[in-house]
Amino acid sequence: MPTAQQTLQEVFGYAAFRGAQQSIVEHVVAGGDALVLMPTGGGKSLCYQIPALLRSGVGIVVSPLIALMQDQVDALKQLGVSAAFLNSSLDAEAAREVYRQIHRGELKLLYVAPERLMTEGFLSLLDEMYRESSIALFAIDEAHCVSQWGHDFRPEYRALTVLHEHFPDVPRIALTATADAPTRREIVERLSLEQAQQFVSSFDRPNIRYRVTQKANARQQLRSFLEMEHPEDAGIVYCLSRKKVEETAAWLQEQGWDALPYHAGLDAATRNQNQRRFLREEGVIMVATVAFGMGIDKPNVRFVAHLDLPKSMEGYYQETGRAGRDGLPANAWMAYGLGDVVSMRQMLLSGDAPEERKRVELQKLDALLGFCESTDCRHQTILRYFGEQHPGDCGQCDNCLSPVDTWDATEAARMALSCVYRTGQRFGVAHLIDVLLGKATPKVEQFNHQQLSTFGIGNGLTQQQWSSVYRQLVAAGLISVEMEAYGGLRLAETARPVLRGEQEVWLRRDAEPTKRRNTKAER
Ligand code: ADP
Ligand code: ZN
Repeated sequence: MPTAQQTLQEVFGYAAFRGAQQSIVEHVVAGGDALVLMPTGGGKSLCYQIPALLRSGVGIVVSPLIALMQDQVDALKQLGVSAAFLNSSLDAEAAREVYRQIHRGELKLLYVAPERLMTEGFLSLLDEMYRESSIALFAIDEAHCVSQWGHDFRPEYRALTVLHEHFPDVPRIALTATADAPTRREIVERLSLEQAQQFVSSFDRPNIRYRVTQKANARQQLRSFLEMEHPEDAGIVYCLSRKKVEETAAWLQEQGWDALPYHAGLDAATRNQNQRRFLREEGVIMVATVAFGMGIDKPNVRFVAHLDLPKSMEGYYQETGRAGRDGLPANAWMAYGLGDVVSMRQMLLSGDAPEERKRVELQKLDALLGFCESTDCRHQTILRYFGEQHPGDCGQCDNCLSPVDTWDATEAARMALSCVYRTGQRFGVAHLIDVLLGKATPKVEQFNHQQLSTFGIGNGLTQQQWSSVYRQLVAAGLISVEMEAYGGLRLAETARPVLRGEQEVWLRRDAEPTKRRNTKAER
């Protein structure tokens, strides 16, 4: 029997295993269960493909990505590995041919969609194969799809516990690039992987330069980012809504950029065509919702830009992780402002998800906001979230390149908070700032707010500085967003010690929005 090393070289043409690949392969070949956490591009496929070749029988690969099965199978066939897939895209005759190949013992790898795996017909085929000891292993790709709180939840994944119950002797290997502790725990629990060995790779992406800039005029900011740093590069611009995707793509096109829209509301032909152009041509900018990206393997994506906040750190990490898979420098750029915090909170709160789920999602958003406002090294902050250590001082991210000043904002925070309180906890930031700055606008006069003790007490700071203060107070949870009145702010419990003068508040000093750094010429 060939060794793992020989198979790697002779079948796949690679000289050496990467990272934990070898230990994973050996563990699974020996019949062990495994949970593999590896970042995108880390090389997860070999971790089940090689054991499938080395063990007798067929490796069954459960994958939610129908569009990618064909690619994977084609690539394997090119290497001389007999592989096939079963999913809804096959007609009955093609599916029968796959069944015949299985019966003749010709296949080494079979990719199946989870809903297919759970059909009675397929389960009885598996029973038969199991009796003949011809199942080499089960690989469960994108295992985080089992997580109810994740962005890719697939209810069919829940049923995958039958694998363990029906076929206890067959090794199972679950793989994912989503690594936060709650998701990991949920995968272990839902897939009964308590006995599995966990292989956790580092999630650091040292070649990605993370940068969070304060939103002033997002389109112009995006334009100067592209002009100065990526005039000819391929990249992805993420937006929250379909409408904004289309508007932004159209606007970029008007400006002469080769930009294409992508979201789930476009018809399949357009989506496929845009995706194909992005993958095959050079220098295409994809403006997309999060519907775009899962499984996209384009090594030279040079930047990922966020015009809206992602929903969580996992989302941010996954989305930015699509940049720089070739290991060369790439930028993760995000423009973020108070409006994003308010609208994201409102979106989460107003949905009809159960309370418990909303709470989890709000916590996830808060972690992301903490990241945005953090003054620490971005690599360190991201990895800390995933439970990993990083020494900091990466020398690459915005906070390391130009360390952020913090200032004692205790007094300003008290003014900002008491202005929320005195105006009755129902106004938005624009009005609160008008009151602080003592502007007698029609709205101020309508509510008689020039009579308040907070009217005009904030002249020591500019409009922009107050906006920064409010953004950070909301991000830190001292102020919450009111659901009934649009954008209205309320004090949270945590604001009390600050108002009573018992707690200091230190905030980051935002860079001037016009300040430019790190131009193409300088790099
Ligand atoms: P993932 O599924 O973790 O995103 P893939 O399995 O698609 O990653 O692998 C990413 C890329 O790295 C692929 O192009 C693959 O061929 C390549 N690769 C994987 N393992 C090795 C290795 N040991 N040596 C060289 N290239 C590798
Ligand atoms: Zn850093």
